[in-house]
Amino acid sequence: MTQDSDSFYRHIAQTSDAPMGLEIDYAEGCHIHTKDGKSYLDLISGIAVSSLGHRHPAVIAAIKKQLDKHLHVMVYGEYIQEPQSRFAKLLTDQLPDSLDRVYFVNSGTEANEGALKLAKKYTGRSKFVAFKNSYHGDTHGSLSVTGRDVYRDPYKPLLPDVHFIDFNDPAVLSEIDTETAAVIMEPIQGEGGVIPADKEWLKQVRKKCNETGALLIFDEIQTGFYRAGSLFAFQYYDVVPDILSLAKAMGGGMPIGAFVSSTEIFEEFKHNPPLNHVTTFGGHPVCCAAAHANLEALLSGDFVSKAEQIEKSARTMLKGDGIVEVRGRGGMIGLQLRDSDLTQKVVEACFKKGIILGWTLHSNSLIRIAPPLIIEQELLEESLRMIQSAVQRFA
Ligand code: PMP
Repeated sequence: MTQDSDSFYRHIAQTSDAPMGLEIDYAEGCHIHTKDGKSYLDLISGIAVSSLGHRHPAVIAAIKKQLDKHLHVMVYGEYIQEPQSRFAKLLTDQLPDSLDRVYFVNSGTEANEGALKLAKKYTGRSKFVAFKNSYHGDTHGSLSVTGRDVYRDPYKPLLPDVHFIDFNDPAVLSEIDTETAAVIMEPIQGEGGVIPADKEWLKQVRKKCNETGALLIFDEIQTGFYRAGSLFAFQYYDVVPDILSLAKAMGGGMPIGAFVSSTEIFEEFKHNPPLNHVTTFGGHPVCCAAAHANLEALLSGDFVSKAEQIEKSARTMLKGDGIVEVRGRGGMIGLQLRDSDLTQKVVEACFKKGIILGWTLHSNSLIRIAPPLIIEQELLEESLRMIQSAVQRFA
């Protein structure tokens, strides 16, 4: 055991008894290299983060350039910082007119915290409608709208007046009423097992929100930035949310999140009282510089086709005994296997062969496949062949 490994197990707070424990040396493109000289193909992109692969040159160059200018200078919202302004402009240029303002934070869960508070402040209401098996983060507000009791129970009481409905269930329509501040959902549930929303159902949810004055919050923290095919999943669904939460792939490997909404809705954060929602590090200039370079690089590539290709390859190459379903969209694929035992064997066998796969938080019989979107077709097919043969070996 190395000294770093010893310190990891002794001094770093652990999240389970079984961390993966890879000792990282460096990461580049689609691969992570460990201190023992091994290389692993990162087929989960650090959980839907490294869409351009690890250490994309444009992102690294932007970070280096910003390092020579300034780091933190002031809490969010006071000074005009070029990287923030430039990135907010580039991001909102890609969005409909009603999503023209960005509030930067540091992570996904903070984006949802902000979104929930903004919805309460704007509507003057406190009821939320959320979905079973959703995942929105682990701080108290986000956990309050996360639909899995096993994670919620130890931390109760959480926010009151949150109503959980089955995903894709029309019953949600009668739950959305004039008391509802917002409906919060992932257009494709990620941790819930890669479950896409039904298009027509989503349109009805939007309509009911319009009728009742409830806001619609889309948590695109996992689906955003071409992960699920289109730049944002709401574009595929043709349903525009009132608030859009972003993080993960946005920073090209740097920690940054955002919630995006309209000028009218954000007006509420300026008053009664002023400074009612602030953050010290939100929209850190180095992270914004990285995010700007990351989005420019994403926009200059053909990642719609690339994501489509990933989905098509997964659907055609993964089939047979033990495989119940291949689902998801674009580069956000869930391989539903027969049971958790088979899933564990496949994940372990692939890991031994140098492929990193993962579970999702709410399912232990589903393998998550979310490769960097820059993956070469040949490498993708080679890895899918290895997964397929591992499934067939143990099924
Ligand atoms: N929402 C969704 C849909 C997520 O997938 C995640 C992370 N898995 C989060 C929120 C929380 O993001 P973070 O870990 O950056 O707080």
